[in-house]
Amino acid sequence: MNPVDEQPPKALWFDGQSSRAWSAELRSEGESLLILPQGGAVLRVARPKLEWLGGCDAPRPILRTPDGGQLLLPSREFAVELGLQPPQETLLRRTLATTPALMVALFLWLTTVVFLVGWVLPPAADWVSVHLPPKIEKSLGAEALRAIDGAHFAPSELSEAERARITQRISEIARSTEIRGLSVEFRKGNRVGANALAVPGGVVILTDELVALLGDSPRLDAVVAHELGHLHAKHGLRTYLRHAGLGLLFVFVLPDPDMAQKMAERFAKEVITAGHSRDAEREADEFAQRLLEKTGRSSDDLADALRLLAAKTGADEKRSGFLSSHPGIGERIEAAKGKAAVSSDR
Ligand SMILES: [Zn+2]
Repeated sequence: MNPVDEQPPKALWFDGQSSRAWSAELRSEGESLLILPQGGAVLRVARPKLEWLGGCDAPRPILRTPDGGQLLLPSREFAVELGLQPPQETLLRRTLATTPALMVALFLWLTTVVFLVGWVLPPAADWVSVHLPPKIEKSLGAEALRAIDGAHFAPSELSEAERARITQRISEIARSTEIRGLSVEFRKGNRVGANALAVPGGVVILTDELVALLGDSPRLDAVVAHELGHLHAKHGLRTYLRHAGLGLLFVFVLPDPDMAQKMAERFAKEVITAGHSRDAEREADEFAQRLLEKTGRSSDDLADALRLLAAKTGADEKRSGFLSSHPGIGERIEAAKGKAAVSSDR
């Protein structure tokens, strides 16, 4: 076939008045576009008055005329030949044009998550931590302890006598606090190394490695006093509840409940081993310093214990230890020393 004989491609014209689709020829004339519907009246439209609809890179562009009609063009190239330049398109504009509902849903979802995590969960967790019945706190703590035992610890190899002696000392210190029903647990730390943990429900865990490093000494008392500070302020419980809340969010958001449950359990384990915020550590240190003084001890012991732990961690970097879950060590040693200097000056 001779290309010269080819008919120019036709557009489809919807006049906006009826549901009829007109086959229409289009011609360019000066600044105007002529629409010639087959069997209908010719329409002249100023090109700038034509509005592009839908995605600008659609294979068959759609244009709206000022009187509400619509033109379905045969191709983009055809539009360009008629002098109809598609508007400049940005990635954002294209994304918004093609997936507006998805974008709105994603935005609302993110806003909700940020709002819940940032503003609702922390105060809700703090409120619950204060009002939670001790029995429930104990069972939460037992669940957390089971999770930690399964992930990190082995049974202690300390002798009965040694454990009894240390427990006795700790119980005496705890009598000077408001903490009731304290339980002291001993574990072999393995990869966790020399460490002490406070678990919700009034449990303090000491690793064999910590006892070996500090001995049955005032330094061990100082570390225990710090953990009692965490228990007193319910740091572990508050963090645990915040993570449990996040777990609930995952249950809500993820389609697989098993997966959500696993993530929640993982949080329960990590919350104990990942440690507390710097503010919580400072609060626990200050509690320990007050308690040590109150029970006739020195906060120098806390500084000494921290120094020994820092040296141990430095010598054995691959192990996680008390310090990996207790950040800001240099600052804390200085604070403990400063407190001791002030006390001895008095
Ligand atoms: Zn701590």
